[in-house]
Amino acid sequence: MRKDTSEKPVAFQGGTVAREDLPYPIVHYPGFYGAFFAFQEDRKGPITLCSCAREAIENHIKLHLSDERPTHPNPTRAFALDSMYVPYKLVRQLIDAGVPSDEGVIEHLQFADRLCHECNRAVPSYRYCVQMYECWESDLAVQQDRD
Ligand SMILES: [Zn+2]
Repeated sequence: MRKDTSEKPVAFQGGTVAREDLPYPIVHYPGFYGAFFAFQEDRKGPITLCSCAREAIENHIKLHLSDERPTHPNPTRAFALDSMYVPYKLVRQLIDAGVPSDEGVIEHLQFADRLCHECNRAVPSYRYCVQMYECWESDLAVQQDRD
């Protein structure tokens, strides 16, 4: 039977944080339409990304820097990691730490293996895009029900 995900709140604002049943349980949601989640083991721990996303994040940085976006008036949108695609708090921390907005930003990111929903076959507690778009989370929920 298909799980009904329609009742879940939508994580439409940057900065949505949830506690979920994952190896690093504090989950930072990406901005609206974003793809990259980040995780914290505890509130004092570093904001960490799943290793499975590293290549995609590198591509995002290259693409974003070659785009006209770096002139965006909002500094977290203009940064090499756009806060629309990655959690706002992570971008804010990088900017506040004085990390240059260039391809070297990848070296300032923390990665660890098997942190994310996809690697753990878990479904996010928030929806993070509108239903007219096909979110992988809905596909995963359907897929898990079939298993
Ligand atoms: Zn992963």
